Parts: sequence; structure tokens; C-alpha cells
Amino acid sequence: MSFTEIRNEYERGELGYASLLELRPRSNYANLVGIVTSFKSPKKSRGTDYVGSTVITDPKSDSAGGSAVVINYFKSSVELLPKVMKIGDVLFCKEVKIQPFGNKTQAISTKSSSWMVLDGALNSEAFTKSSNFVSHECDFKIAQWMKEWWLAKDAPLSVPVIKEYIPPRSQRLTLKLSQVKPLTFFDFIGEVVKVSPGHFPSCIEIQLTDYTTNHSLPVTSRNIEDPYAVYGPRVVQCLLWDENVEIGEKLSIGSYVLMRNLNAKISPMGYLEFKLHGDKRARQNSEPNVMLLDKSHPQVADLNRQKKEFLHEANIEFSRNIAEGIGLDNNQITVIKHTSQIPTSIDDIINHTEVNGKFRIRARLTDYMPEKIEDFARPYCTNCNKSLLPTREQFTQCPECSFAMSKYSFIYMFALLLEDRSRSTLPVYLYGKDARNFFDGLPPTNLYADQETRNALQQRFRKLWDGPRLTPYNGLWFDCCIKSYTVTDEDGGLVKRYRMFDTTLLYQL
Ligand SMILES: [Zn+2]
Repeated sequence: MSFTEIRNEYERGELGYASLLELRPRSNYANLVGIVTSFKSPKKSRGTDYVGSTVITDPKSDSAGGSAVVINYFKSSVELLPKVMKIGDVLFCKEVKIQPFGNKTQAISTKSSSWMVLDGALNSEAFTKSSNFVSHECDFKIAQWMKEWWLAKDAPLSVPVIKEYIPPRSQRLTLKLSQVKPLTFFDFIGEVVKVSPGHFPSCIEIQLTDYTTNHSLPVTSRNIEDPYAVYGPRVVQCLLWDENVEIGEKLSIGSYVLMRNLNAKISPMGYLEFKLHGDKRARQNSEPNVMLLDKSHPQVADLNRQKKEFLHEANIEFSRNIAEGIGLDNNQITVIKHTSQIPTSIDDIINHTEVNGKFRIRARLTDYMPEKIEDFARPYCTNCNKSLLPTREQFTQCPECSFAMSKYSFIYMFALLLEDRSRSTLPVYLYGKDARNFFDGLPPTNLYADQETRNALQQRFRKLWDGPRLTPYNGLWFDCCIKSYTVTDEDGGLVKRYRMFDTTLLYQL
């Protein structure tokens, strides 16, 4: 069987395993397989049990926005838990119970569950399994297919990353964009703005910036969709040739790179451009000419400072345009309170160490939960603080505590999966006051019964997402304010979550 055949059969559920994307909460028991994307080491759980928690994904689920399934195994001893060693391992588990968990689907082991873990290294066939797991030949084929997919997908990690300071190895200078003159060779530190195929097969074109300006570069205009995107004579075209193509293709937008031995030329259009040719000697010394730099590397301090200045100025201009009504066109779909805050990236939000951080981002929607807009508002009891499953019928009293409930006893509760320019994603929750403010003028109500509010809500939501759920849809960019907070998870550990605040979805046409 070819990988394509395996993929097709797997996704149609013909190989005995449920496709993770099609997995629905409350579908009872299922057999699952996937690549491990994160895991926690086993811990003592309630009573005498030990719990092991693993998150897995598969190609279809991953391409639909990184949705994944959490599997919690409960066993009486650590020895009986799946022996997941690292991210990239393949976990098979049979007869696990499926249930909803926040905006994710969760699987829980039962007495009859069995498991097998395959080593994630491409050519390894090593595996461990529970005594009751019956493996088939096709399991190993599924594992091989998933491993190949995962390793190919994860390729950006193979660009060498420099964390430690490296002394200069040559007489070449490291130049800022503003200092580069045509017909020189130099080293350069910059941020990747764009990656696109070159006009020749052995060439790739990338755009770089260090946020300084050079008068030999074209004066392009600001991107209306993204007022914080770098533009104008701060961005230089760079052509990578030969062995550099492979590394260039793996660079992600927003990453910082050190490029050695660049050559500055004048393009046929008369602008400054950089070229990086293959270098036999560099290949022999295994010293690549393109390397990723960690964002905390001392050598990027200047770049970070220039970037901050650029964003600060872009922000002043953006705020002024909004104040003067210039920015208020069809491209703006939200209004935020904290306009003086400088926008940040999702990676920076995730890596932020403070517990209650406040941020502003420019993002677009890639997924949302729940699936149906009717379920965005839930019956809510203010007495016992519980929310209930939405139905067409109106609760007159809380089933938990008998407290009187009316058509006003509702709360918005939903989650948005946001994506930024570097394609990093962040799940963001909206509920209570923040959600009411988001759908300003449309207080939560029974959306199954109140058609008028439901239609109005749909109308507004269409600005964020116009089409069926889980289709590759590139919605409009919007600004929003995000707060981080912590909750206690099932195992008693603290988990960081994110919620939107002080953001209103516009509804005037
Ligand atoms: Zn109650």
C-alpha cells in the first residue's frame, strides 16, 4: 500500500481507527492513532491510580488548524501507562472513551483500553505496548506514514539555531541594511518578511528587514490589511541559490536569521538586492550560510530595538488615522480600547512569563467553538454559577439548585482560534462581560428560540468567518486585546488560558 492509499483508507475510517478530525464528543468508544505533540510525565491521581496525559494529532486534523485530542490514561501503576518518550512518537490506543473537554475532545482510558507506542525516529521500528494490544501489519504502515508526514512538516526545526554568541570568523563585516552598498560582500542579521519560489528551480526569493532604511530600495506603500507590517525601503529582496534553497524554504515568516557572505547587487529594476550563492567550502566545513537566531540572542538587540521603534511609529499613525476616521473603512471590523498598546505576536504572548499579561494582537480567525452559533449562549444560573446545555426550551428554574431562571438568565461562552502573520495560533475564550461587549447591543439570550438575535449574531460573525467551519478560509484581519489567566486543570496543575477583552465587533456596514 502506498502512503496515499493508507491516508485515504485511514481518513475514511477503514483501517480500524477514527480520523481525529471526525471524532465527535460523546461518540462513546473509539480506536485512535496519532503523532504525539505534547505529553506530561505520569502522576499520582485520585485514589491509587496514576495518570498519563498525551496530546496527539493526525495530518487532517492538523491542517484544519492544529486541533488535537488529549488522551488521559488511568492505571494502577506507572508501568501500565503508555511509554511515550518524546514528541513525534506514534501512539495507538484502542477502546478509549471519547468526551468533550473545553474546546477540545478528550479520550479517557477504560478497563478494556490497550495501547502501543512506536518510536518517532524515521527509521526506527522500536515499540512498546500493553499486553492486551493486538497489533496488525497495517498499524506499522500507518505509523510510517504519520512519521514521514510529521518529520516533513516539522522541518523548520532543522535550520540550525544559534543560541550562544559566536565570534566573527572572517574579515567580513556584519552590516545593517542602511549601511549596505552595491557590489560588497557582508554578513546580515534580519527578520524574514516573505518566502516565495524563485524564477529558477535552484533559486528561492525571500524578503528581509532589519527595520533600518536604505535609499536604494523601492518605496512600496503600507499594507492596508496590516498596518503593522513592515514596508517601504526597509525591506530587501534576497535570492538564495543552490544548497541554500532547501534551508530558505524552511524559514518561517517572523523568524530571525543570520546570513553569511551575502552579495549586494543592483537588480534589473534598478534596486538594491541581496544574493547568496552556493558555497562549496562552507558545505565542506558544514558551516551553513543561513542560520536561525534565537530572539534573545545578544546579536539581535539592535534589530529588536529598531523593530520596536517601527511598531511604535506605525501605532501612532494608525491611532491618528482612526481618530480622523481614515482607517475606518471596510477593512476595520473591530474596535479596541487600548489603541496605544503596541501589537505583539502570538509567539511572544505564549512565551510571556507573567501570569496576568495584557496584550494587543492583529489576527484572523482559523476556527471556533462551539460549532453552531445557537450554542454560543448558554442558560446560566447566577445562584450556583453553573451553565447548562442550550436547548430550545426555556428553563424556569435551575436543575441544580432550583433557583428561578428567566429569558435573561443566559451567558455567552465560546472560543476563537486566532492566527497571526507568522501562522502561530492561540485559542482565546470569550465569556461574560467581555463577550457581551464583543457582541455589543446583543445581550445573550436563548438563540434557539430568539431568531432575530441569532440572525443579527450570524450577520456580525460573518465578518470574522464567512463560510462553513473547518474549511481553509482566510478571514479579515482584526485587532483585539488579550489577557492571560490561569485555571486549575483536572490533575490540579495550573494551566494558562487566554481571553479577549475590551474588543467590540463592528456591525455598521
Ligand atoms: Zn443553580
